[in-house]
Amino acid sequence: MSQDMCSRSSEGLRVILPPERIDRRTGFGLTGGADAFAYRPTTVTEIADLLALARRSGRKVVLRGKGRSYGDAAYLAEAVMIDLTRFDRILSWDPASGRLEVEAGVTLGDAWRHTLEDGWWPPVVSGTMHVTMGGALAMNIHGKNHFAVGSLAEYVDEIDLLTADGAVQTLYPGREDGLFEAVIGSAGLLGVITRAVLRMKRLHSGDLRVLPLSCASWAEQFAAFDSLLDSTCPPDYLVSWVDAFARGTAAGRGLIHAAWYTDEAGARPASLTLAHQELPDTILGFLPKSRMWRHMRCLNHRLGMRMVNAAKYRSSRLLGIGKPHPQSLAEFSFLLDYVPNWEWAYLPGGLIQHQAFVPRDAAPKIFARQLAMCRATKQEPFLAVLKRHRPDPFLLTWALDGYSLALDFKVVPGRWPRLLNLCHQMNDLVLEHGGRFYFAKDSTLRPDDVRSYLGEAALNRFLALRSELDPEGLFATSLARRLELV
Ligand SMILES: Cc1cc2nc3c(=O)[nH]c(=O)nc-3n(C[C@H](O)[C@H](O)[C@H](O)COP(=O)(O)OP(=O)(O)OC[C@H]3O[C@@H](n4cnc5c(N)ncnc54)[C@H](O)[C@@H]3O)c2cc1C
Repeated sequence: MSQDMCSRSSEGLRVILPPERIDRRTGFGLTGGADAFAYRPTTVTEIADLLALARRSGRKVVLRGKGRSYGDAAYLAEAVMIDLTRFDRILSWDPASGRLEVEAGVTLGDAWRHTLEDGWWPPVVSGTMHVTMGGALAMNIHGKNHFAVGSLAEYVDEIDLLTADGAVQTLYPGREDGLFEAVIGSAGLLGVITRAVLRMKRLHSGDLRVLPLSCASWAEQFAAFDSLLDSTCPPDYLVSWVDAFARGTAAGRGLIHAAWYTDEAGARPASLTLAHQELPDTILGFLPKSRMWRHMRCLNHRLGMRMVNAAKYRSSRLLGIGKPHPQSLAEFSFLLDYVPNWEWAYLPGGLIQHQAFVPRDAAPKIFARQLAMCRATKQEPFLAVLKRHRPDPFLLTWALDGYSLALDFKVVPGRWPRLLNLCHQMNDLVLEHGGRFYFAKDSTLRPDDVRSYLGEAALNRFLALRSELDPEGLFATSLARRLELV
């Protein structure tokens, strides 16, 4: 790094960064990417030095964790890219209280592997364990238990924030200035989260009791969510897969999975071992997972996915539905990690995810209309997932009392304008009904959309904090430019 800092342009004004640092990074969906000057610091001092280096070279800084945001949130062309994945030490762990202190590059996978055998698990996990704590808090991630426990940041007691001037401040929830609540979900635009202290969840077993429930329509889906959540023993986790190709009275059919924590006798149940939680190396016991994405390509088109969705639904009607079974927490939580690199099956165009958060009462109508719009334009999403949510206190939040529907769309080269047009129409519909969106999943919002769902007050507060903490506008991303957040 010191060598980079010494090389100067002939005018002696700006540091010229070495071309061998240039590296291309994409979003998870592989629809876009950018070349930037990549650095992988291991200490706070090195990160602060990189901020100074970026300033001297006249470049922006883009922060990056594991790059699991689907769209353009974690890259920026020609910037200094600070990749935090080597900044990954567990700083302290107290198995008596469940207090875990980590550097920002520690992933959710690192965290649970460290604490599981003492009987603790992250209170909230995303559908993949390959996310850094910094990236997770910068996006305000949620899990399949959001309706009950809120987002991961609600279990964070403190964070350190390194601001553009190189100073570090410790932030706590509920502080008078509301800075903690502004940094959570601010998508790397207010500074670098360098450290977090997390309250883990006590476990008495590494297995969940999972109940699959097949639903024949939208009406059955929402009725089942309501009855499960209103029951005397509501599930700890709840999620549903929706067959986005089904039409007519079958529209909205799918498969709910409700899950409950369980208790196991004994001081150290076998389910609380890493061996019990590791995801299998093969699918169906014989297909190597590492090569699965190639096989998936054969079916990764409209007709193939119509068949896959229909087959999944039919099998859900036949196979043990309505009967609970045990499943490890890792298997239940990280279904999307089963097939490594599955996103490559969407190449050459990649995929986008469209996740709309809609108030509870409007959700049945809006989601049905969204999928009807997809069918009418023959652009059905290949995967659709329904979840239940609750509001949270964060400034740039996507959260509300309602449901979200996450739709994975294949991007076909040459047909992007059609898909963008469909997403814009869906965005308008969602916004008309008080819905919100999530930067981690976004590729299609326009600046006015963000203004509309965040509201002027929240946006102005964010922009005022930007001016205060980063007056030169050092931190930026492609998403922030697209949405005029910087
Ligand atoms: C298969 C899959 C399943 C997913 N499931 C869910 C889910 O169930 N729930 C959910 O909420 N999300 C989900 N996500 C989205 C994912 O959790 C978020 O995109 C998360 O932010 C990714 O973390 P990351 O480390 O990869 O961050 P990146 O994608 O690399 O970065 C995310 C943002 O954080 C900023 N950033 C990164 N590190 C820092 C830091 N230290 N300080 C400040 N800013 C920083 C970046 O600039 C960027 O804007 C899923 C993603 C995938 C690919």
